[in-house]
Amino acid sequence: MAPKITLENFDRKNFIIKELRGAFKRCPLYNEAKDRAKYDYFVPSKHGKPQRRVHFKCAQCGRFFRDENKNIAVDHIEPVVDPYIGYVDLDTYSERLFCDIDNLWVLCNYKDLQDGVASCHKIKTKIESGIAAETRKRKKANGNDLSQTTESATLGGRKEKSKSKTDK
Ligand SMILES: [Zn+2]
Repeated sequence: MAPKITLENFDRKNFIIKELRGAFKRCPLYNEAKDRAKYDYFVPSKHGKPQRRVHFKCAQCGRFFRDENKNIAVDHIEPVVDPYIGYVDLDTYSERLFCDIDNLWVLCNYKDLQDGVASCHKIKTKIESGIAAETRKRKKANGNDLSQTTESATLGGRKEKSKSKTDK
């Protein structure tokens, strides 16, 4: 369980982000994204009425999952925090969290490996975290200044990394 929030450890940014994340799961975007991945069908049963089954199709592997034990996740195709830029501010965060419906899809998100394979959401998250870690390193090396790399990227100019200022 997360430690109790007290006045001493209260972190405004983290608190708001957590609340925003919770709000996202209650907003129509979230439900619509799930609905779009939903497959509702009936299977015959030996006795009585046919049984209703609801499954969700993973947008990447195409497999079907039931919505239980966090088997699926509504995922932002373009992540909420751009891993190449990092966190900007709360405005940017909420704008990207409550994004266009077409930027949302459902991915499988099962806990353990299945046939030696991690879930699509876990794989995607791992890749994004790797890029984000690189971005943080680069920011640190540039004294938090990404303007040089951003500029050269926008201009489509030279691709090589700007000279490191950290001589040791
Ligand atoms: Zn999948």
